[in-house]
Amino acid sequence: MSALRQVRGWLGTRRRFQFVITVATVVTALTAACCALIMLPTSAVPKLRAVAPAASAPQAGVIDDPQLPGLLRSMESYGEVITETIGTGTGRAGIVLGHNAYRADIEVLAGELAAATAAVTALWGSDWSQRPVVVIASSPSEFASLTHAVGDVPTEVAAATVADPFHPGARPTGQRVVFGPEAGRRLGPDGLRAVLRHELTHIATRAATVDGSPQWMLEGFAEYAAHRAGHRPATEIAPTLTARARATDLPRDLPADDLFAPTSGEAALAYEQSWSACAFIADEFGEPALVNLYRALATGPRDTAAVNTVVRDTLGIPREAFLARWRSWIVARTSPGA
Ligand SMILES: [Zn+2]
Repeated sequence: MSALRQVRGWLGTRRRFQFVITVATVVTALTAACCALIMLPTSAVPKLRAVAPAASAPQAGVIDDPQLPGLLRSMESYGEVITETIGTGTGRAGIVLGHNAYRADIEVLAGELAAATAAVTALWGSDWSQRPVVVIASSPSEFASLTHAVGDVPTEVAAATVADPFHPGARPTGQRVVFGPEAGRRLGPDGLRAVLRHELTHIATRAATVDGSPQWMLEGFAEYAAHRAGHRPATEIAPTLTARARATDLPRDLPADDLFAPTSGEAALAYEQSWSACAFIADEFGEPALVNLYRALATGPRDTAAVNTVVRDTLGIPREAFLARWRSWIVARTSPGA
């Protein structure tokens, strides 16, 4: 069961919260292929309650994600599990699971889940499950267990997305967002909501995303989705980028993949640059062009020349013009008084 484990995609420091958010996509081996479905009512009264045993009878309007029985068994070994199910529209539902000490964070995430799902769908389209499973781990060991992480999980890890192995083009299974035990305390409600949208974007785009695709596209798109409806200024979303821009230190190029590693020392800037590139594309070329570019670039590793060709073909401008206009956008959005 240890095959095909990978950790990729790191999200750097959000200086606004002085917290390094490290987001990993962890691909795990199939663990629940033969489990019976668990059925959880969508209208739980009271709203928060102890979860039903795995053998509970099916009910109408239920969540039938096959990963839930195994997930519950794993979580129950760390204490009683409470859940909240949320209708996400069109008869679908999502679920948030956690332990009693995390009741407030569960409420925040449950309160955001329908809006976050709708927002991601509005940007990306409806070709994903729209039935998110969100889990809050109560300890580093539970977090490691729920993400099947390789080795020690850094304490800075805020959240991860998990999926079973799958072939490109197939619909991924076993997808969930897992928040670390410190996420709520260190991020606050607004930070939790933004990270939820970031992670749900990774889940929605997973079927169209091949490992090794340019990180600036994958992480920038998720960050763009996280902040898209927030109406926060670029100076707040990207404080590191702002400081550099005001010192006339503008990016010469899109950030390379190795800068996204938490050990790079430049991860925060790499994420902010990526967000700004995607926000610039959405602003000046439209969101459909941004989505088209994601789909065109998320097909696997390629060299810089090939990336430039895709950007040129999708947006209709050559590399140097793209970079020059991006830099101008950064200057305009980060100047004092912007
Ligand atoms: Zn990410």
